[in-house]
Amino acid sequence: MELYNTLSRKKEAFPAPEEQQKIRLFVCGPTVYDYAHIGHARTYIFFDFFVKYLRSQGYEVTYLQNVTDLDDKIIARAAERSIKPEALAKEFSRAYLEDMQALGVDAVSRYAPATDFISQIVAQVERLIDKGFAYKIGGDGWYFDISKDEDYGKLSGRTVAQAEDGVSRIDDAGAKRNKGDFCLWKFSKPGEPVWKTAIGDGRPGWHIEDTAISEYYFGPQYDIHGGGLDLKFPHHEAELAQQESASGLKPFVRFWMHTGFLTVKGQKMSKSLGNFITIRDFLKKYPPEVLHWIALANHYRSPVDFSDELALQAAAALENLSNRYLELREEDRKEEKRKDQGTLSVWKEKFDAALSDDLNTPVALATMFDVIKDKDLSAKEKRVLLDSFSQTLGLDMVRKNEELPPFIVEKLAQYNECRANKQFMQSDGLWKELEDLGYEVRDTENGSHLVKKMF
Ligand code: AMP
Repeated sequence: MELYNTLSRKKEAFPAPEEQQKIRLFVCGPTVYDYAHIGHARTYIFFDFFVKYLRSQGYEVTYLQNVTDLDDKIIARAAERSIKPEALAKEFSRAYLEDMQALGVDAVSRYAPATDFISQIVAQVERLIDKGFAYKIGGDGWYFDISKDEDYGKLSGRTVAQAEDGVSRIDDAGAKRNKGDFCLWKFSKPGEPVWKTAIGDGRPGWHIEDTAISEYYFGPQYDIHGGGLDLKFPHHEAELAQQESASGLKPFVRFWMHTGFLTVKGQKMSKSLGNFITIRDFLKKYPPEVLHWIALANHYRSPVDFSDELALQAAAALENLSNRYLELREEDRKEEKRKDQGTLSVWKEKFDAALSDDLNTPVALATMFDVIKDKDLSAKEKRVLLDSFSQTLGLDMVRKNEELPPFIVEKLAQYNECRANKQFMQSDGLWKELEDLGYEVRDTENGSHLVKKMF
């Protein structure tokens, strides 16, 4: 498999499971001051798919995700609501986990809230102070001096903020040595959460939370670090500088992966811009598979511009695939001829080749439609392939359709019987009942089958 590495700016060979079975992956988790939106979902659905895919290929993946449960935004939002920052963070951490569960995103091995790791954070800042990478601004905090790290900027290709970072977090302080220096430890102001420590009474900077957590679980070097593109600078650049400076070991991370943005009318969907749709609101309108489809039908590094039309197109594509699958099931029941296995392996190779090429999920999805069109395959062979591909991609729609509740199966059987006996009044009644229960009856040459309606 080849993976695009943001650090080298090219695709690189990823070790096969026989060469390296254990993979340590860290993905930046949410800052919990509000409900997660579908932009977050795009990133987390992708990494969920990625981890499940790796596991299916024989890797043993430890997937670690931090939760930023204290920062300026959390403190400000809690003050607006006259509650404690801890209470706000707890409320939205819970909401985040509920949303991930509703989406079927469940590959994370461990969630690590930053405030559980204060001693590790302080120890890392102390190492940076001892090695001369950090300096103190009285009444403000400890800062990382980027001029002391000759590699600073190697991940993103820059060292200071630009216009497009408007919504990302840059620490501003008048007395900084360099414009791009970032805060490691903030001395707390009255009323803010505070930890009394050897480096002063205060709270952690944002970037140091992640390296303290990853070092605790993975050590100073690990395999993959992921997140959305907005985190490349300054967040990931800062993490890289902190960890490599603290340990003296390079590379901090072997592969850096960044997902493209989910945008709305070309603008990044974000809490700060207010142009967001929460996962909860989305799920009131569409089933979770629609979001999975949107995440996988586009390459993970490309931007996706979200609109209701896009969601409807995704739902239609899913429904189309699902219907074709159900038709194949009917055909399969009647069909007797069997083809040799040669053609199956050709399609499997095509599908695997797409995913091995930097996880090209759009091509993998297109392969499913190509399989359906292949005249040389029997219905059974097509089903075998579609079952295997949809499982790898985590597409539930095929499985969900198979699992019709027993009373629905019973009604469909009655419907088919009435039609066979030309009792059309009764069959029309059953048709209407199934329709009201959310199922569309499709009459085909091979008998009738049901399609679960999306809306
Ligand atoms: P945050 O809570 O803002 O720190 O974001 C949590 C994760 O979601 C990070 O990996 C972000 O890069 C990612 N993310 C936030 N907004 C978007 C978006 N519009 N599209 C894709 N990923 C996003």
